[in-house]
Amino acid sequence: MRISLISHDGKKPEMVSFVLQHLDFFKREDIVLFSTGTTGSHIEKAGLKVTKVASGPMGGDAEIGAMITQKTMDMVIFFRDPQGKHPHEPDVQMLLRLCDVHNIPLATNDATAELLIKGLVS
Ligand code: PGA
Repeated sequence: MRISLISHDGKKPEMVSFVLQHLDFFKREDIVLFSTGTTGSHIEKAGLKVTKVASGPMGGDAEIGAMITQKTMDMVIFFRDPQGKHPHEPDVQMLLRLCDVHNIPLATNDATAELLIKGLVS
């Protein structure tokens, strides 16, 4: 299963702590992780192997969107920061839309991501 982990700047600590809480799951051999650039660096520091695409504002969300369209992405966990302003908001909206177009499980907050992971573990 290919999973994207993405987080806006204001949510990066939350993403790191989410990943650390589920380290055993994310280290499974059948899980392949992808991330936008800066989120990916944080995840690597947390001890996980991850394929990094461009940083979000440089087109990383669009790259993940393309993977969804090409059917090479199975799940997206994107901790969005609803309080912040983001120059790449159109790309973010495109990514969320493509998840719906292609029926890809999408979590935009910690509580939903938790439920998705639980669903895969059980
Ligand atoms: P980043 O991009 O991981 O490179 O910060 C995430 C985003 O803001 O979409």
